[in-house]
Amino acid sequence: MDINELYWAAGFVEGEGYFSASIKYRGNIQTGVSQVQKAPLERLQRLFGGRFRIKKYKGGKYQDQWVWYTQGAQAVGIMMTLYALMSPRRKEQIRKVLALWKTWGVRAAYRSTCKRGHPLDGIDCRGRRRCILCTQEKWKLRARADRAIERQALLARGEPLPVHKRLTDEQVVALRTRVASKELTQAQACREYGLSPAGVHKLMYGELRADVAGPLLNPGGS
Ligand SMILES: [Zn+2]
Repeated sequence: MDINELYWAAGFVEGEGYFSASIKYRGNIQTGVSQVQKAPLERLQRLFGGRFRIKKYKGGKYQDQWVWYTQGAQAVGIMMTLYALMSPRRKEQIRKVLALWKTWGVRAAYRSTCKRGHPLDGIDCRGRRRCILCTQEKWKLRARADRAIERQALLARGEPLPVHKRLTDEQVVALRTRVASKELTQAQACREYGLSPAGVHKLMYGELRADVAGPLLNPGGS
């Protein structure tokens, strides 16, 4: 980087820039400058990268401003680069913002709820704490999406959609009775009724319509 450009940038950011870190938005850290003129901001972008947005003022009291901003590691890098060239007041700001940003990682480790406020009661495959409810929901949605894609593919090929196996309540009672009396094992029931193990389990321990109450079995009981 051209040293003259760096001094220019330091002077410009000293006068017009901001350094910020947000507690609310998970330690989102930014370095930026807002200005009516876009040209000096483009010079900053050539030096450091970053993006532009427009800051509008309600009621036309002030002119709209261009904002050049950088976030995350990029913003941290700029703060560290410019630090030595800043005034004591700006140095103090940078120290505060970086301190706040650093605490975020620590605070994340002590969080006890997910984004939606459920307890973090599970652990995922990488050992990170997870909310079981949201995880289950995510997989359910994924499975539903997969089935939808599958159906679309079958329709596109003009093939018939799969018919889901449904037993009548009487058949369910018969199945329960036969398994309960050890006439059938659950594995044999799977084969005979063409069901998955989960499907048989649901039929064994799920609820029936009130008018055809069959023997409800205890899971794990004989
Ligand atoms: Zn959750």
